[in-house]
Parts: sequence; structure tokens; C-alpha cells
Amino acid sequence: MIIVMRTEAQQEQIDAVRKAVADEGLETYVMVGAERIVMGVVGVGIERVRHVEIMPGVEQCIRVSKPYKLASAEHHPDRSSVRVGDVEIGAGAPLVVIAGPCAVESREQVLATARWVKREGATIMRGGAFKPRSSPYAFQGLGIEGLKLLAEAREETGLPVVSEITDPSDVEVFERYVDMLQVGARNMANFVLLKAVGQSRKPVLLKRGLSATIEEWLMAAEYILSSGNPNVVLCERGIRTFETATRNTLDLSAVPVIRERTHLPIMVDPSHGTGHRPLVRPLAVAGAAVGADGIIIEVHPDPPMARSDSEQSLSFPEFGDLMDDLRRHEYLRNPTARSAYVPAEPPAERRRLRARIEDVDARIAALLEERAELSVAVQQTRAADDHGHDVGRERELIERAAHLEGGVLTAEEREMVFGAILRVSRSAQRRSAADREAAAAAATTDSGGASASGPSQ
Ligand code: PEP
Ligand code: MN
Repeated sequence: MIIVMRTEAQQEQIDAVRKAVADEGLETYVMVGAERIVMGVVGVGIERVRHVEIMPGVEQCIRVSKPYKLASAEHHPDRSSVRVGDVEIGAGAPLVVIAGPCAVESREQVLATARWVKREGATIMRGGAFKPRSSPYAFQGLGIEGLKLLAEAREETGLPVVSEITDPSDVEVFERYVDMLQVGARNMANFVLLKAVGQSRKPVLLKRGLSATIEEWLMAAEYILSSGNPNVVLCERGIRTFETATRNTLDLSAVPVIRERTHLPIMVDPSHGTGHRPLVRPLAVAGAAVGADGIIIEVHPDPPMARSDSEQSLSFPEFGDLMDDLRRHEYLRNPTARSAYVPAEPPAERRRLRARIEDVDARIAALLEERAELSVAVQQTRAADDHGHDVGRERELIERAAHLEGGVLTAEEREMVFGAILRVSRSAQRRSAADREAAAAAATTDSGGASASGPSQ
């Protein structure tokens, strides 16, 4: 720390400051400048002499090193990883996906969700049993009953579970039922709770406070680390800003900042970060792309009926889409890392079926081409200024396709396919019409037809 004295500081004031520092067992190094005196203070526990800032003759105190030590990258140059059950988070381990409902509501809900998210590739299950809701009248969670249901889901699926703790006296019961303790955004600065989870042997998922700076968040981590628990995972979950279009502003820039300043693993929560279902998938992919060690997602069997955070909870198929996207993009983040999703060598039967699929795909591609050629030919039979969009025929075609009986595709899925086919056919028709028009214009110009575009009056 640097103590800058005022230009008019008296010798007695300088001596008093030096004594105050010495009384705390720290040393001062005095530098005498042309105008003023500056003192450097070194040693462990600099915070102890912060009070000299208000002593007579002192202009300001400037902190040189970071106030957090155990969390800092300087203290621990290698990135650390945290184990939750058998799952490793951080230090180059494959991206971890934690998924599950905002709140544990029933056995059926928790078990169905656990089975689904596991099959999709999530490796840790989440679920709130004690819910810190903005309103005291809102659903507060099932409490210990909820923790027991999470433990049951782990028994069945093998997924370790994480749940939010809100009361320091609950540490023991949480340790009995869950594998990771979550400290929520609203409790990030609850120092009593931080010290309590710091004395636990379970890893901690520490969410960023709603209006916490990165430094304040790291100081919260420091509380846990300095209480004896080295297993802290940070989680960016959005902060309060002036923006109202999203529930919070997901601060993705925090991820590389955290990676630069600390060795702790960092996760991203796009569910609370955005508060809106359609935004969860793109922001999950963005979180992975920006270097998060994992993401945490709210998933519910029937989102509109969810008793908390229904707006941001993904349905099972939506979660499936998100996982597909992550699988598609993961190589972008770390192309050489062994993917968590590399499947084993497929059995002969699957290879045979895949070969047939490739054959079908080739035929579909040829049919698509044939169909597009026909629709372009149809367009060419029309007058140049006829856009040719027959909405009635288009609707009939989709209806007919959608109402085919039987088969594995639903009417909605068939509509998706035929909708896309019609759009690409229209796109080819439009391009063909534009090409024809351009060719006609060029021909007119070539034949000295400048008059065609000349004055017409
Ligand atoms: C949660 O994860 O259920 C939760 C309440 O999150 P946050 O503390 O980030 O609001
Ligand atoms: Mn929630």
C-alpha cells in the first residue's frame, strides 16, 4: 500500500502514521520527494492499517495488490478444478452442464427432469428446495422434503445434485442430501452464510450478487476459501442494469475477467441471466464460447405450470435443442480437448442404419434439387412482374403434408419440413426472376435501347 502525505504534513504527523503502521506489525518505507513524502507499506494483512487514511496529514492511501489472496491467480497460477461427485469442473475439463428445475415441486417432476437431462448429457442436477423469492407470498420451496427428493433423483440417475442453501444452520442437513451447496445471488454478501459453507466439506457454487462488482464477488469467494473450503465455483447469473428488456444483464465479459484474475472455475447461468426462454439457448452457447467451464440451466417438464421462474424454464425438447447446439459448437472453444460427447464406436447395426440414412439423404438432396428446378420453371412461365406467391396453394400443400396419417413425424414436424421446402423454392424462384430481369435489362442496353429508360414524356 502507498500512503501519500499532504504537501503541508508536519513531521509529527508523519511519525504518527509510521507508528500506527508499526503498531500493527508492518513496516513503512519512506520516500522523500521535492513536494511531499510518500510511504510504502508491505506485509501480510495490509487491510489492518487502512485506518491511517483518515489520520491528520494523510492525503490518500492507494492499494497496490488485490484485496483477495486465496482466490487470486497470483496466489495459484494453475487453474483449479472442483469435483462434484465424479464430475470435474474447470482446469480444462469438458464443459459441464448443470440442469434441473428452478424449484423442486414433486417426486414426478424431479425424477422426470433428472432422467431427461441426464440422457441429453447434463452431468449434474439442480433444484431449489429453499427458495429465496422476491415475494413472501410466492412458493418458498419444499424445504428438507425437496432435498430428499433430490437425493432420490441422484440415487436413481447417478447425477450429483446442487441446491441453494439460505440458512447457515442448514449446512449439516444439506451435507446429508446434496453434493454441492449453492449460495444464491441474494446471499452473496451474507458473510455468516459464506463462513458457514466455508467450513463445509462440500463444494460451493457461488452466484454473483445482483449488484456486485467482480471484486466484491471475489471477496465473497475469499470468505469461503479463508474459512477452509478450497472448492469454490463462481457463477455469473446477470446483474442489475438500466435495461428492462431482459430480467438481468448477463455480464459475459465477467468470464474472461474472472479467468484472468482467479484460478477458480467459472460457470454461466443464462436462465436467470436473461429471464426469457428464447434467450437461454443463444446465451448458453455464448457462455461456452467465452470460456465458461460450465453452464447451469433451468428445465421443467411443463414450463407454463412451473411454480417459480416459469418464463425462463426450458421444456425438455428446448433443453435438447440447447444441448445439440452446445455439441455443435463445443469444438470452437477448445478444439483439441477431448469432448465429453464423443460416442463410443457404434455397433454394426447402427452403422448399417446410418448407411441407409446417408442413402436417403442423398435421395432427398436430389429430390430437393428436382423440386427447385420445377418451381423455377413454373416461375419462368409467369410474366416478369408476377411475383407468383400463391398463398392458398402453399397453405394447401402444408395442410396435405401435415395431415398424412401415421408415421413417426408429428403434424407440426412435417409442417416444419414443408415450410422450409417452400421457403427455399420461393428463394430459388425469386433469384431466377431477378436474373431474368437483369438479363432483359442487359439485352435492352446492348441493342442500343437506352431510349427504353430515357425520358418518356
Ligand atoms: C437459482 O438458481 O434458483 C436462483 C435463485 O438463482 P440466483 O440466486 O442467481 O437468483
Ligand atoms: Mn430460478
